[in-house]
Amino acid sequence: MKVLDRGRLNISAVACGIAQRVLDESARYARERKQFGKRLGEFQLIQAMLADCQAELLAGWALVREVAERFDRKPPQVSDPDVSMRVSCAKLFCTEMAGRVADRGVQVHGGAGYINEYPVERFYRDVRLLRLYEGTTQIQQIIVGRELMNQH
Ligand SMILES: Cc1cc2nc3c(=O)[nH]c(=O)nc-3n(C[C@H](O)[C@H](O)[C@H](O)COP(=O)(O)OP(=O)(O)OC[C@H]3O[C@@H](n4cnc5c(N)ncnc54)[C@H](O)[C@@H]3O)c2cc1C
Repeated sequence: MKVLDRGRLNISAVACGIAQRVLDESARYARERKQFGKRLGEFQLIQAMLADCQAELLAGWALVREVAERFDRKPPQVSDPDVSMRVSCAKLFCTEMAGRVADRGVQVHGGAGYINEYPVERFYRDVRLLRLYEGTTQIQQIIVGRELMNQH
């Protein structure tokens, strides 16, 4: 569990990093691309998608930092089920969040987001893996649910 905890925290941070890049690319594209005589970024529905990405991304980073600090504070040789539960929460939230951010990133880019001229197309595929390895989303849910039952 100790090794898995470290790997899952790492993937949580990777998910936030990719989500940040997707948001940066999408905000830049929204500033540059013009449709109907305006920049995409002037449309409030586009701003809403970017705002949702930003809010979820900040939540993801805060969660990773909080759980990583707990992980670092515990003695290195000890496996702590409460810390493992929190690590699973981080992996669950951050990898699902990165999926939603990548999906919105493609949406902001429109058809251009589906072809390989822009990097969001690759990130959309890359983030899909994060919900699978080091334990799928369902496995994280099982770990969290089981530990909650133990604690209460
Ligand atoms: C690119 C890549 C790199 C990988 N690298 C490594 C590596 O370096 N080391 C390593 O050990 N593994 C690695 N893996 C394997 C990876 O960890 C597994 O693919 C992952 O754990 C899912 O297992 P599985 O593919 O056997 O899916 P399955 O276990 O067959 O799961 C299929 C589906 O059933 C669900 N499911 C399974 N059991 C339950 C359950 N009890 N309750 C509810 N739902 C359930 C899963 O969530 C999933 O949705 C890698 C995989 C990929 C794609």
